[in-house]
Amino acid sequence: MTRSALVTGGNRGIGLAIARELAAAGDSVAVTYRSGEPPEGLLGVRCDITDSAQVDAAFKQVEEAQGQVQALVANAGVTKDQLLALMSEDDFMSVLDTNLGGAYRVAKRAVRGMMRKRTGRIVLISSVVGLLGSGGQANYAASKAGLVGFARSLARELGSRNVTVNVVAPGFVRTNMTASLPEERQAEIKNQIPLGRYAEAEEIAKTVRFLASDDAAYITGAVIPVDGGLGMGH
Ligand code: NDP
Repeated sequence: MTRSALVTGGNRGIGLAIARELAAAGDSVAVTYRSGEPPEGLLGVRCDITDSAQVDAAFKQVEEAQGQVQALVANAGVTKDQLLALMSEDDFMSVLDTNLGGAYRVAKRAVRGMMRKRTGRIVLISSVVGLLGSGGQANYAASKAGLVGFARSLARELGSRNVTVNVVAPGFVRTNMTASLPEERQAEIKNQIPLGRYAEAEEIAKTVRFLASDDAAYITGAVIPVDGGLGMGH
């Protein structure tokens, strides 16, 4: 049986690129989606990661269809940008709840099986702004920085069970999330990137595929930037 992988938010953007990359490497891949149709050729499970019952139901569906999840990619995430002085408590808490709380819910549900089997790969998708900070994104940056402490704690908890937990910190990637930024802001960002361009989603996906592979067996608790040099030194 091929390895069972699950990518949250794998219905579009970076998550879809990751799901396709893992599938091309030979995994059976399931993706979560909330609305619309799941992508063709991948098992779609409807799931809002802010709801533990939906997370549990999604895992059960994946387990029945392709076996216990052995590679988990917590990719789903949202932004609700606003300067702190104007940021509502709901906009702060809901971003934390999706980006960090969602990772907690799916990782918690996945580790039981991984610990029992004494093998597993968890990759969390953070962001360069988790370490650099970003004006207008205090909620998002806090959630992405939180993933680093979360991953490193899990790496310590699960190392003896041969489960690795790593973080990928993308810079700016061409997806819906960045397309909505004003053009002047996009140009400003490009000027700060040593490689002078945004990443393609596939470039993030290839790093995730590596961390989820046997070749990365001795890497855990790492934060791997895939950001064109934007976050160097952080
Ligand atoms: P998109 O906005 O294109 O996609 C976001 C994905 O997350 C969608 O699949 C969406 O599902 C899913 N999602 C959001 N909220 C929930 C929820 N409550 N439950 C289940 N799924 C949810 O974003 P990207 O592909 O650009 O981003 C993917 C990840 O990469 C995010 O964590 C983001 O923070 C991170 N990242 C992105 C960067 C970029 O430049 N684009 C840079 C650095 C990090 P649905 O379709 O149902 O809404």
